[in-house]
Amino acid sequence: MLPLIDRHTHLEGSLDPAWVRTEAERRGRPVPPTLEAFWAGEAQPFSSFIEAFLFGAALLDGREAVREAVLAVARRTRRSGGSGFDLWASPSFLVSHLGQISLDEFWRGVEAGLTEAADLGLRGCVVVDAVNHFGPRHGQAVLDLILPDLPPFVRGFSTGGLEGYPFRDWAPVFDRARAAGLRIAAHAGENGPGSNVREAVLEGGVERIIHGLRADEAIFQLLAERRIPVDVCPSSNRALVAEVQEHPLPRMLRAGVRCALGTDDPGVIPCDLGTEAAAARAMGLDEAALATLRRNGGEDAWCLLG
Ligand SMILES: [Zn+2]
Repeated sequence: MLPLIDRHTHLEGSLDPAWVRTEAERRGRPVPPTLEAFWAGEAQPFSSFIEAFLFGAALLDGREAVREAVLAVARRTRRSGGSGFDLWASPSFLVSHLGQISLDEFWRGVEAGLTEAADLGLRGCVVVDAVNHFGPRHGQAVLDLILPDLPPFVRGFSTGGLEGYPFRDWAPVFDRARAAGLRIAAHAGENGPGSNVREAVLEGGVERIIHGLRADEAIFQLLAERRIPVDVCPSSNRALVAEVQEHPLPRMLRAGVRCALGTDDPGVIPCDLGTEAAAARAMGLDEAALATLRRNGGEDAWCLLG
């Protein structure tokens, strides 16, 4: 049986809603209406998503909360039959920007969560996410923070957020991360144009794409030729990228792109690996295509490396 991997999920966006309610109440912080609306399944603009995402991130202010967040990912993955996850996390946002936890406490919380996940039979690794629209100088600052004492479970470096800066400007940051032994991913063609996907690969040296929704057939061909994995998250895309009427996943697979499924932010936009497979079927994909998604998911997963 092929392993089933959640190929893309964010620590800060994967919190268990019941835990968020409890912690919010304990701290006297009302859950924002935007987050309630996402939980109710309402599609909303990307700006509302950021607000909802940040509310959860602000609760990750200690080792125990971070451990709980990793376990929420592990439990959700396991409930849907999964056996591993590639986990995006933004330590610099929590440590440097919000100043609510030390880097050491953050990594200890992640390590404790991953150890318990391993006890449940799950493999997990971390991809550190920098914010594209904060620019390459921010990217260098993220590397300044994490590289001096990089835990072995950190396997990759990525950009997320708004696709505000051209990927060629990020190339020096990616080069430095790669020289430190990290693999490079980027959210591209999600809230920015499809041409960002081509640029991320050709000018940024990115080796894995998240979403790639707005790319065209010529770019799909480039991704297929170079065997660049693409993480696809149907529920997140439907909630946040309303302009893309028809999901390109079937066209990507036909072009030979190495797509796999991920949940992105299931603590904000409710979903799991089961709902994402159902969404893929609803796009007209047959069981052979579903098997391809699953096989790609394992073969290109960073949590299964080494
Ligand atoms: Zn993402």
